[in-house]
Amino acid sequence: MAEIRVIALPTETAKKVLETKSSPGYGHPAHTEIARGHGPCRHCLRPFRVGEEKRTLFTCNPFYRLAPVPAPGPVFIHAELCQRFDEESGYPAELVPYPVVLDGYDGEQRLVTERRAAAGDQEGVIARIFEDASIRYVLVRDGEAGCFDFRVERMEVS
Ligand SMILES: [Zn+2]
Repeated sequence: MAEIRVIALPTETAKKVLETKSSPGYGHPAHTEIARGHGPCRHCLRPFRVGEEKRTLFTCNPFYRLAPVPAPGPVFIHAELCQRFDEESGYPAELVPYPVVLDGYDGEQRLVTERRAAAGDQEGVIARIFEDASIRYVLVRDGEAGCFDFRVERMEVS
């Protein structure tokens, strides 16, 4: 199975959202409310405790500093700055129960493959996607809402 690097929202971006209460690069007001859905938080990659935790909604471009054409969409983070997900921890254990859509892109921002993964199958499907050498990264999206969750790359072997 391919070793993967799981890339959550940078802490710098999360801080900027919480400090300015607006979406970096877009200026749309960020909205904070009690979580009504499981999320996840795009910074710590943990599901929200519905009805308990506060979450902040803002506009995020998953291709920021990655590829030229933006694809802005709504995402949530914890309203209190949390600990960013460790990139080398593998697929986030707390997100395994949630089905996802996995979009494999090449270095020219072309969508090479789009696959669904059921609960528990995510790592296996990601490994199969990375068998195609043209694929540089995979964007993980919510299987129902379609929103961007996080990015996965191959672990560089040094
Ligand atoms: Zn969080």
